[in-house]
Amino acid sequence: MTAAPVTAAAPTTAPDCLFCRIVAGEIPATVVRRGRRTLAFRDGAPQAPTHVLVVPTTHQPDAARMAVADPALLAEVIADAVAVAEQEGLAPSGYRLLTNTGRDAGQTVFHLHMHVLGGEPLGGMTGGPIKAAG
Ligand code: 5GP
Ligand code: ZN
Repeated sequence: MTAAPVTAAAPTTAPDCLFCRIVAGEIPATVVRRGRRTLAFRDGAPQAPTHVLVVPTTHQPDAARMAVADPALLAEVIADAVAVAEQEGLAPSGYRLLTNTGRDAGQTVFHLHMHVLGGEPLGGMTGGPIKAAG
């Protein structure tokens, strides 16, 4: 099976996108950092003592699309995720940055987001059940 082509189409916002609505202030979130083109807020169902999501303030569904449409913004998301880890005090003990892309990774929100996880030993990178959507 051939993967769908990745195009450079770059919508600014997407209707009914949860994270576009958080960026717009329509849905409340605990914001921890505002970057030039990013927003960082605490995950609503944390999977580690510190679990923050860093999103671009414009809509792209995943890292593959973002890498084509605006690779500099993808780099900005990663740099701001590192800044969040540092401001949350995770740097000395370590932390994990990850972004899920597509079904097998368990992506549930299709607005690119970088998870910043830390505050305890995080275990292996794969395995375990994929969490339910919602
Ligand atoms: P994914 O599974 O797509 O990689 O990650 C989506 C993340 O968004 C999950 O970790 C989930 O807990 C988080 N999430 C889903 N809905 C909300 C919400 O309304 N507010 C916040 N802050 N996080 C949410
Ligand atoms: Zn969006």
